[in-house]
Parts: sequence; C-alpha cells; structure tokens
Amino acid sequence: MTVYNFAAGPAMLPVEVIAQIKEDLPDYNNSGMSIMEISHRSDLYKRVYQETKVDMLSLMKLDPAEYDVLFLTGGATQCFTTIPLNLANKYHKIAVVDSGHWAQRAAEDGAKVPNLTVDIVASAKENNYTKVPKIPTDLSGYDYLHITTNNTIMGTAYSNEDIPKLDIPLVADASSNFLGQVYDFNKFDLIYAGAQKNLAPAGLTVLVVRRKLLHKNPALPGLFDFAVESEKDSALNTPPVFQVYVAGLVLKWIKKNGGVSAIADVNHEKARMLYQTLDNSEMFTSKVEPDSRSIMNVPFVTGNKQLDDLFIKEAAEAGLLNLKGHRLVGGMRASIYNAMPIEGVQALCKFIDDFENRHA
Ligand SMILES: *Cc1c(COP(=O)(O)O)cnc(C)c1O
Repeated sequence: MTVYNFAAGPAMLPVEVIAQIKEDLPDYNNSGMSIMEISHRSDLYKRVYQETKVDMLSLMKLDPAEYDVLFLTGGATQCFTTIPLNLANKYHKIAVVDSGHWAQRAAEDGAKVPNLTVDIVASAKENNYTKVPKIPTDLSGYDYLHITTNNTIMGTAYSNEDIPKLDIPLVADASSNFLGQVYDFNKFDLIYAGAQKNLAPAGLTVLVVRRKLLHKNPALPGLFDFAVESEKDSALNTPPVFQVYVAGLVLKWIKKNGGVSAIADVNHEKARMLYQTLDNSEMFTSKVEPDSRSIMNVPFVTGNKQLDDLFIKEAAEAGLLNLKGHRLVGGMRASIYNAMPIEGVQALCKFIDDFENRHA
C-alpha cells in the first residue's frame, strides 16, 4: 500500500532524497565511510557544507556577500533565546507579532533574556488566530521585529505582499514554510527554521542572516554567538554533518524541480485542491479565513470529536498517516510540505469525499 505521511514535523522527505541517502549511506563518495562517520574537519564535509550554503542562498536569490547561512543545532526554539542575545543590543527591546503558538513561545522565551523588553505589537487573538495580524511598520526604538511566516498549528501564513519593507531589522521564524513559498527574502534580515518540517531530519537549525548584523559579543559563549559561528563556518563544535548533507540533497532536489517558485506553484495547487474539497464539504470545515490560509499546514474539523477520531483512524488504515490535529486545537491537520506529492493530496481529497458519503 502506498503511504502518505501528513505529519507536521518531523515530516516526510522527498522519496528521491531517501533513495539517494540509501545509495550513499554505506560508502560516501568512495571514501569507504558513511557520511555519518566522517569528520567535520574533512574536505569531504567542507565540500558538502559549502555547496549546501551556496545552493541555499542561490535558491533564496540572496547575495552571499550580504548574507551568510549558519547550520546550528538547538532547534527553532533555541533561536527564541539566541536571536535576542545576538541582535537586541542597542535598545534591549524587541517587537513581536503574535500570530499563534510559536510566536508566543518566541515572546515568552525572549522575555526571559536579562534586561530585554518584549512588546507584542500586533495579535490575532481577537480573531481567535484564524487570520494573520497586519504587520505594523511604525517601530522605531526596537532592535528588531519578529514575525512567524507560517503558523504551523493555527494554519495561517503571510504572503509576500503582506510583508512590508521595514526600517528596523525583520526577523522571521520560517520553520514550517522555509523554501515552500515565494518571498522576497531581501526584505528579511534573519530567517530561521528548524529543519525537520521542510528541509532535513531533526537536529539542524538553519539561520540565514544579513552579515552586517553580525558583531562578536565577548560576553556571549561562542556557541551562542552568531558572529563566531559565521567565522567558524558553523563548526565551532561538532556540527550535524548528516543533517547538513540531507539538507544539501533536498536543495538539489528543489533546484532540479525548477527552484522555489516552481515548487511553490505545486504547493499552491495542492493547497487549492484541499481547501476546495473542504469548502465543498458539508461535514468538514477549515476555520481559517481565506486570505490567511497556509499552503503548508491545513487544519480542519467535523465539529464532532468522535467523527474526527473515526476519520483519523480510517484514514490511517487507508495509508493516509498522521492526520491528527495538534493537541492545542484538536481535529485534523494535513501538513503538505514540499515533499508531499500532488498524488498524496489527491488521495486525501478523495478520502475526505468518500468518508463524507459513507458517514453522512
Ligand atoms: C516546529 C516549530 C518550531 C519549533 O521547532 P524546534 O526546531 O522543534 O524547536 C518553532 N516555530 C515554528 C513556526 C514551528 O513550526
């Protein structure tokens, strides 16, 4: 039976990438060793690292003279602390847009950084997080504004047009739509993502950062200092070699498929099919307002907990896995990242229609 994995993260990787890993694993590049066993100081790894960095900036249409890529660990969650430690050194004050759960975690962890003030400058609370709040532009006196481009749990997202050009640095948690949607990345000063949603296995955190924001801070441990990590090619200590290698394969897969805009076109089509199925249904609904709908994470409900549970169980039996919604919102959630083929979404749409017919 063909199986489709709709998990929000760790999420599925492209089947071609899994096949390549399988082929490479016993003997990487005729070294006689697997990629998991080679040194992070070896030329073999240095090549993987350089190529991955170059491919990433080129897919994002960013100039390597202006932006660097850091391959760190600790997840997006650790960035909630390390980003203010690195960037909030002038006003000791940051602005956060509360678009959902992860934005709130970023604000909460930021507030624990000594001497840092965190202001929520916009919130979707009054809309019950069914749409993204408008991003304010009048933000003088802040070290930066933090936004979340795609809200993994609420199923909302900003489009490129929603994102203004600011006169303070713009920091974005893009964990769940990194390279899955087209943005003019030049509008951003730091984009970060936990890899396990749309890029690589868990254990890698990517930060794409404008070089002019990098200043060494002797008060910070080197491991948390982005300027030190940049200088050390993200290898101050042992980096996640295997994850960087897989990220490199995924980037080559994106390139082969026409780059971010071509992948995003497919993602828009997958999302359009799924929302249309939900909108045409009398049993299932998406609560997210159409203008804010995520093309990556699609939460939906029947309004009846038992029916939701039955749907999740029967879907799993049909090979449509991990459709259970996040525990905070319940219901179902289909995560349809870059690696989810259009056939997977077609199978889900058909299953939704069939389920409704059987249980109406
Ligand atoms: C999953 C997720 C996180 C947490 O990522 P970790 O890498 O597990 O720390 C943060 N932000 C967003 C938007 C996410 O989707």
